[in-house]
Amino acid sequence: MLTLLGVDHGFGTMKASLPSDRFRGFRQVHGVHVPEVRAGFAGETVEADGGWTREERVTLGVFTADCLPVLLAGPEGEAVAALHAGWRGAVRGIVPVGIRNIREATGLSPKDLTVVVGPCIGACCYAVGPEVWEEVGRYNPGFKPGKNCEGSLDLAALVRHQVTEEGIPPERIGQVGLCTRCHPDLFFSHRGMGESRRGRTMINYVRRT
Ligand SMILES: [Zn+2]
Repeated sequence: MLTLLGVDHGFGTMKASLPSDRFRGFRQVHGVHVPEVRAGFAGETVEADGGWTREERVTLGVFTADCLPVLLAGPEGEAVAALHAGWRGAVRGIVPVGIRNIREATGLSPKDLTVVVGPCIGACCYAVGPEVWEEVGRYNPGFKPGKNCEGSLDLAALVRHQVTEEGIPPERIGQVGLCTRCHPDLFFSHRGMGESRRGRTMINYVRRT
């Protein structure tokens, strides 16, 4: 979807294909801070769970291993974002925050934004406790978990609900739709691999070309 907008992007386990210059990662803390990355950003990595940029040929990346990576782009890729949404960040709305930050700074309409919801742990593998559901309800009163996901959180569905509420049209919301735990051949999974993951993470990136 994003390729059509002139945006290079990917969800994967290989760092090798990324340009090492002008790469921006973040010290991810499961928060909801989404700063703008400007030209000449060299310096220390900021504490944030993603960012957005208007700069060309700047690669933004977020690291995941079951958490949900979300990529965004404006028309012709004129603004791009990479966001890391674990359950805490997702529930508290890091994706809506990213959308609003871009809108406020650029004046873009949500109708012009395209969102791709990446691979993450699926409802098939993600049973969560009452403390998580309590937060889901507190921050997302309108979210209705599907019937077949009782006790299991569908992170991707939650984020799709949120971006729809932000006004992004359904035809501009893409989803990879694969569970990271169910596909160890494709992805790294914190829950599926345990110690054998040895700190390896997926790198999910977006770059305005
Ligand atoms: Zn699964």
